[in-house]
Amino acid sequence: MRHTLYIILAATLLLVTTATHAIEPLAVRDGKVVEATTGKCQPLTGVSLAWHHFADQYYNADVVRTLVDDWHAEVVRAAVSVELGDGILKNPKRAYKALYSVIDECIARDCYVVVDWHCHNIRLEEAKEFFTTVATKYGDKPNIIYEIFNEPEYQTWEEVKAYSEEVIATIRAIDSDNIIIVGCPHWDQDVDIVADDPIDGFDNLVYSFHFYAATHQQENMTRCDYALSRGLPIIISECGGMNHLGQGVVDFEWWGRWTEWARENGVGWIAWSLSDKVETCSMLRHGATPHPAEGGWGVHDLKDWSLLVMASLHQEYILNNEN
Ligand code: MG
Repeated sequence: MRHTLYIILAATLLLVTTATHAIEPLAVRDGKVVEATTGKCQPLTGVSLAWHHFADQYYNADVVRTLVDDWHAEVVRAAVSVELGDGILKNPKRAYKALYSVIDECIARDCYVVVDWHCHNIRLEEAKEFFTTVATKYGDKPNIIYEIFNEPEYQTWEEVKAYSEEVIATIRAIDSDNIIIVGCPHWDQDVDIVADDPIDGFDNLVYSFHFYAATHQQENMTRCDYALSRGLPIIISECGGMNHLGQGVVDFEWWGRWTEWARENGVGWIAWSLSDKVETCSMLRHGATPHPAEGGWGVHDLKDWSLLVMASLHQEYILNNEN
């Protein structure tokens, strides 16, 4: 009898644990990111790590834990440097080590993770090889979101589209369902152009728009409104409160307008970036510990920008849990 009781208790505990911690697979339906099983709109909000080649000291389990537990990030973005410095083309071992440490901790903590090919140029064969490696290793995990082209610079949509179709086909041959983020021309600004000619033939695609609130304002919002009116699914896979160079002062008014716009339209956003570089958009003060203790970084390590991001993520968390 006692054994039966233990078995029932253990089974109940397992059920509760599973129900509490299982992460929902995502899908894209009717222009929105949704939970695949329930259809509930799931606009993810979170934080992007910086280019790994200068900030991979922050690509670790303690940072992911802090972002998830203390900042309420629902998604963490790993920005895999491609061409610059000691990026993946030059040093693949370092890149995969950093990326996998973030992915593994996101999986352990039921957090979504954007695997970002942080490149400004078309590197088709290298991208296909990279996403083949990642999809083969992690494609069965619902946590993974592929971002196949961070910010196209001067390429036309025709060029970006042709590149994207090949990379998407490569991923889909391995992973049939996880969400893929497609880049848009001119640093992810031209969502209106893409909305008139989206990619056909693949499911679960979402297109990236990036804003920096002190630079990108009404004209960009109007372009996003147009894209949404055409049914284009959008995610803000990178954004900041300062100017497009990551510098200057934070524009609180337009940061507020964009995050409100995102919430009203069911669009997710990911703030740039978790690093200690001396620039407005880097969230930590220079030399901030890469291994924050329980409770996260102290105020002496945080900057105005990280405090604003934390406040915005907390607001999303509160609003999401009210409904
Ligand atoms: Mg999959």
